[in-house]
Amino acid sequence: MLLCQAPLSTALTLEKIFSFQKVRPPRACAKCLSQFKPLLDCQTCRVCGRRAVDLSDDTCLDCHKWRQQFPYPFVNQALFEYNAAMKDFMKQYKFLGDYRLRAVFNQLVTARLKQSGRLIVTVPIHPNTFEERGFNQVLGLCEGVQTVSCLKTCQITKHTRQSEKDRAARLQTAQPFEFVEPAGSLIRGKAIIIVDDVYTTGTTIRHAASLLYQAGANSVTGLTLAR
Ligand SMILES: [Zn+2]
Ligand SMILES: [Zn+2]
Repeated sequence: MLLCQAPLSTALTLEKIFSFQKVRPPRACAKCLSQFKPLLDCQTCRVCGRRAVDLSDDTCLDCHKWRQQFPYPFVNQALFEYNAAMKDFMKQYKFLGDYRLRAVFNQLVTARLKQSGRLIVTVPIHPNTFEERGFNQVLGLCEGVQTVSCLKTCQITKHTRQSEKDRAARLQTAQPFEFVEPAGSLIRGKAIIIVDDVYTTGTTIRHAASLLYQAGANSVTGLTLAR
């Protein structure tokens, strides 16, 4: 099993064989999977998808602030809470570079994307990161659906680490993305869903969204694995 050393338990029953459906064994054991907290069936911020703390307001404080800076309609859906288990997963997947781990959430992510019926745009990673890691973790999560890689990171933003800046500075960071030409004809008039792995401050996905709106996208929503 991925995520732990539990033995692979995929008994191939007669029912499975005669169901004529592709047998998809679980990629992680039930105990590991239970550590992740799904956000889909709990009360969340209407805009960014984070778990709601103050139930009297449907929009979190962060998103109230964003409303003043970001003139476009944007709603993000997050699948899981960014808790200790998810942090650990991201560490193993991204920073230790275990690309097999994309399989843990791949089916969930792609099912959501297909359901949206939208053009799927992935958030790019910096070429230096790609070189170090050897893969784009967002594309891994989307494996199996058609995506459009029309965005790339601008040269000047390399190695600007978000976590190292204070919040005020983060909110005002210049646009980190630009289009891979020609993207205009792909984007104009389209309903788009942007995919990223983690929604942290919202800066990344909102910058991507505003660029798509500026290119004439009809509507832009977001999907992130975690928030
Ligand atoms: Zn396990
Ligand atoms: Zn919010």
